[in-house]
Amino acid sequence: MIIVMKQNSSEEQVGEVISLIEKLGYKAHLSRGVERTIIGVIGHKDKSAIQSFASLDSVESVIPILKPFKIASREMHLEPTVVDVGGVKIGGERITVIAGPCSVESEEQIVRIAHAVKDAGAQMLRGGAYKPRTSPYAFQGLEEEGLKYLARAKKETGLKIVTEIVAIGDTDVLVKYVDMIQIGARNCQNFALLKAVGQSGMPVILKRGMATTIKEFIQAAEYILSEGNPNVVLCERGVRTFEDSTRNTLDLSAVALIKEWSHLPVIVDPSHGTGVRELVTPMSRAAIAAGADGLIIEVHDHPEEAFSDGPQSLKPDQFRECLKEMAKIAAAMGRTV
Ligand code: PEP
Ligand code: MN
Repeated sequence: MIIVMKQNSSEEQVGEVISLIEKLGYKAHLSRGVERTIIGVIGHKDKSAIQSFASLDSVESVIPILKPFKIASREMHLEPTVVDVGGVKIGGERITVIAGPCSVESEEQIVRIAHAVKDAGAQMLRGGAYKPRTSPYAFQGLEEEGLKYLARAKKETGLKIVTEIVAIGDTDVLVKYVDMIQIGARNCQNFALLKAVGQSGMPVILKRGMATTIKEFIQAAEYILSEGNPNVVLCERGVRTFEDSTRNTLDLSAVALIKEWSHLPVIVDPSHGTGVRELVTPMSRAAIAAGADGLIIEVHDHPEEAFSDGPQSLKPDQFRECLKEMAKIAAAMGRTV
């Protein structure tokens, strides 16, 4: 249920409605938009009692939310959310470009690639220090050492940093070094991890699981939001289908549908979404046309030697070209890169 307050309702009246909601044993989630103040009624109890709030003087209407997610829903928050990552805004007019290698391999490697992606026009740097690898024998990441190298790359280039978390216990160390935390596809429905990251308050990129429906994906985001962390960016990175010529099937319809259903920013990862270097630029163009707020792209200057995901990584000059192509589509969409 959401309670839409009348436009001229006072702070005091908003407070009164919130305390009535809480008295009935629900949680109230306040959302102040430019136009309207909305109060979400959160909880698993039957909410029929809330219907009577419609008769309060300060209340315009009481509307049921039929979707399985609440705080993430459009009804709850009419304006699109903009997530601010240390000054880089995700969800505004400008398309956010995040780029970097799959894994942090050494200090020189990450600093070198950071400079390359910055020169080409990226606003944020990616690089995994804790890698969720399919095989336990594959490179698992440099862990805290890798975070230190990312921090060094940030210091040299000014790029904001995003890196993946794979274990709850690593939250405290991650927040010391990075600007944004990524929850990878394999942990999309790791609810304990979602809650921990929610409690950290850090901006989060939540990637869609490889077998997660759009509704399940937004409900995963709801776990983070319901811990009081509003800074969630959703990332479409492909789902697993019968198709085996690409690594995953990039579901761009998810971008358009999430934009209908939710106010959260949506970005696209065409690197994992296709697994094929040649497809990264075409899918980046398509992502912007579908309404994406940003791209996260793997870039490596020696992809043939990369510790992970070399075949899907763009070289820096290809990345530069990719950005130019993206700029054309962004202009057609009334946006910039
Ligand atoms: C990654 O970003 O390197 C990664 C492992 O992505 P995903 O979780 O989408 O597979
Ligand atoms: Mn990767």
